[in-house]
Amino acid sequence: MKYQSTRGGAPVVGFEQALLAGLAKDGGLYVPQDWPQMSRDEIAGLAGLPYSELALKVITPFVGADFSQSELQTMLADAYSGFNHKAIAPLVQLDSNDFVLELFHGPTLAFKDFAMQLLARLMDRALERHGRRATIVGATSGDTGGAAIEAFRGRDNIDVFILHPHNRVTDVQRRQMTTPVEENVHNIALEGDFDDCQHLLKALFNDHELRDELQLAGVNSINWARIVGQIPYYFAAATALGAPHRETAFCVPSGNLGDIFAGFVARKMGLPVGRLVIATNVNDILARTLETGRYETRDAVATDSPSMDIQVSSNFERLLYELSGHDSAWLKGFMEEFAQNGTAELGEGVHKKFRKLFAAGRLDDDGTQEVIRQVRQGGGGYVADPHTAVGLGVAAQMREQGEVAASMPLVTLSTAHPAKFPDAVERATGEPPFQPEIIVAQKGLPERFEVLANDFEQVAAHIRSRARVLT
Ligand SMILES: *Cc1c(COP(=O)(O)O)cnc(C)c1O
Repeated sequence: MKYQSTRGGAPVVGFEQALLAGLAKDGGLYVPQDWPQMSRDEIAGLAGLPYSELALKVITPFVGADFSQSELQTMLADAYSGFNHKAIAPLVQLDSNDFVLELFHGPTLAFKDFAMQLLARLMDRALERHGRRATIVGATSGDTGGAAIEAFRGRDNIDVFILHPHNRVTDVQRRQMTTPVEENVHNIALEGDFDDCQHLLKALFNDHELRDELQLAGVNSINWARIVGQIPYYFAAATALGAPHRETAFCVPSGNLGDIFAGFVARKMGLPVGRLVIATNVNDILARTLETGRYETRDAVATDSPSMDIQVSSNFERLLYELSGHDSAWLKGFMEEFAQNGTAELGEGVHKKFRKLFAAGRLDDDGTQEVIRQVRQGGGGYVADPHTAVGLGVAAQMREQGEVAASMPLVTLSTAHPAKFPDAVERATGEPPFQPEIIVAQKGLPERFEVLANDFEQVAAHIRSRARVLT
């Protein structure tokens, strides 16, 4: 399997190179040259397999010969061994044809564990083979940092530095990042907000000398391997509900679109996905784009579903590349115009294709509270986290509007455990959510983090003085 850049100006690479590079040299994102296909029989054969075996079958074509089957098999079994549910991604029925796919049984209780646990093993193995080390630097508004630290802690060839906005993540999120004791884990609490963290991260990567010196690597969802790690659960859910003989629709609480793009890939591979629904909070750039055909940023607003408080969706570029028929020249112009003006027009052809497969809806904080309350009061007494609640609210809109037929199963992805966002859940239901053992255990443990000013030189010096690449 070969990967090309969406902007068309970088050499074609294999899986391992795409994994280690993250972003292509021309500023584009890596995408496969063509989509691997799974026949109806192959899809039927996935039904009922243990999760890591199903994942092996789905992921193998993307990896090609860069990792052997037995290596990949071991990594996958290992990646999901720390999950706290035998099914790994259990499907819960809420109504006759409405389901929740629980993706929060990993060690940090959010869906990001699925891809991050695999990514860390792939990277460590690739670096080891080449006798290299790397320095991971990431910025987080909460969930990505915890998942990355949990996945990379204690790995020989990698140091991980995570920037989070000082005093602006939840206690649960902070403790997940700051309680691991391994020496390759470094937390930087930046005096600023999440945007400051992201700007600083970009500045570090744009300093090419520093980037080479520290062998910087990225772990956010522009890294193709993150997407790959999220494709299998679409196959698991759809085959459980009757694929390949029956279509399934998915509703995905979205920010950077990495999660739902994996669903798009599953469909490209032959999975009968009937509809892909983008669910957003009031940071609704994607819902607006689907309605109007114009991609236009506004200022991000803080909500009860903070992991979706995103205005510019990095994986939208991958989707546009596909919808435009791999037209790199057009895409490059579009992205440049957007970068310059904060707005750009999809054009009729691309907009039409976008609307054909996708639908979108939004839910504000009041609506989210209402959904958490209603679902809790429903028959099963189900407790949804605020991100999942946005998904469930939008899923209900889709049924009402006839965007998803009543006869089609509709699966809402549950992206986080309610205990990660206890305040919003308690406000809605009047009681705090159940606390899993893993969260209780972290309370009262010593925490390690360094508070640094929002200053490039200071942060760069801090990382330089600790990265083992330089020793
Ligand atoms: C990251 C995250 C999302 C958004 O996922 P994208 O892949 O960025 O669209 C939604 N919910 C939770 C809980 C998350 O952590």
